[in-house]
Amino acid sequence: MTALSLAQPNQPARAKALVNLTGLSRAKVQAALIEAGLCPPDKARMRTAQVWRWLQHFGVTEFDAMTDVAKSLRADLAQHFTLARPEVVERQISRDGSRKWLIRTAPGIEIESVYIPDVGRAGALCVSSQVGCTLNCTFCHTGTQPLVRNLTAAEIVAQVQVCRDDLEEWPSPQADRRLSNVVFMGMGEPLYNLDAVAEAMDIISDGEGIALSRRRITVSTSGVVPELQRLGETTQAMLAISLHATHDELRDVLVPINRKYPLKDLMAAIRAYPGLSNARRVTFEYVMLKGINDTPAEARELMRLIKGIPAKINLIPFNPWPGSPYECSDWATIERFAGILNKGGYASPIRTPRGRDILAACGQLRSESEKVRASTLRRENSQSEASILSSSAL
Ligand code: SAH
Ligand code: SF4
Repeated sequence: MTALSLAQPNQPARAKALVNLTGLSRAKVQAALIEAGLCPPDKARMRTAQVWRWLQHFGVTEFDAMTDVAKSLRADLAQHFTLARPEVVERQISRDGSRKWLIRTAPGIEIESVYIPDVGRAGALCVSSQVGCTLNCTFCHTGTQPLVRNLTAAEIVAQVQVCRDDLEEWPSPQADRRLSNVVFMGMGEPLYNLDAVAEAMDIISDGEGIALSRRRITVSTSGVVPELQRLGETTQAMLAISLHATHDELRDVLVPINRKYPLKDLMAAIRAYPGLSNARRVTFEYVMLKGINDTPAEARELMRLIKGIPAKINLIPFNPWPGSPYECSDWATIERFAGILNKGGYASPIRTPRGRDILAACGQLRSESEKVRASTLRRENSQSEASILSSSAL
């Protein structure tokens, strides 16, 4: 498969650059078709709907597959646009059926996504929103990778499309989907890239495309308090909060963003999350760290903290990674913790570790991408402009 850049570098349009349509919003597809002179504005809505269905419902990667589009128009489309997928650098399948893809969307931009069967309604895809992360939660592997950059909406959508290619799940089935849920729990902090996350959600939830219900899309955050309201209002996403500690002293260490937005502020913002109800509960994620946050007293403290919030609590056995400074709590300790929460009336499933053998479990993702300094990039650009251009233009 051809390598492709889904990034939209700030470069002036060049004569031969082909725009990739597969990750664009409906409005952007329409604007692109008009700009290319491929439909008069009064026909644009209809033509966009026709092309959109091929892209997002049938998942085609070649214009020739658009059988109800006139041959001459298909040729014109191919002059201006491409439908190529990004390069899948590596694909691994775990003993438990989880699949992990390493996807290269642009030179030096490598993203990991993981499909986990039997999670959610049928199976969940865990997508990344950034390459690396600016935050440094001490138990998280991604936190050891400095932020390279935010992903574009197209790069987020591409993860869903690659997964569907692999599951052979085109056209979008009405029922019996293998990919039924999407969770923003891969690399990065989605609320530090909310515009792209929201745009990607618009694309994958469009009823004439992939048509994932917004109630099956969950955004997990470490607690970027000022963005919670906007997340709820613009996306109606299901909310997951990486809590991990019940008092500021410990949370300051485990989830350092807590120093900026302490528990009191976080809890107030969660209580005000738009659409919160018993049918749309918040998920609190709580990683079980041996001797750190796993006592019965902390289980009780946790319930006191979230009192009155429609919630469930996901207990996540800590997944180790090379050099990680913690151990996972014993199974009996986790079960006792879960038992206390259950007795208090909370659903508190213990998340079975999945894909550990391929480093695909929660918090184990980390790609080798490194931030290239702007000066180096400029030098490389001018040295090999032709080659970079040709790859980003595909
Ligand atoms: N940045 C977001 C989403 C990505 S992390 C967030 O922090 O919520 C997805 C989930 O995996 C979070 O709940 C995170 O706390 C958890 N996690 C990170 N490292 C982990 C590890 N080593 N073991 C288990 N869970 C981990
Ligand atoms: Fe970033 Fe989330 Fe990992 Fe914290 S847990 S370092 S916010 S990806």
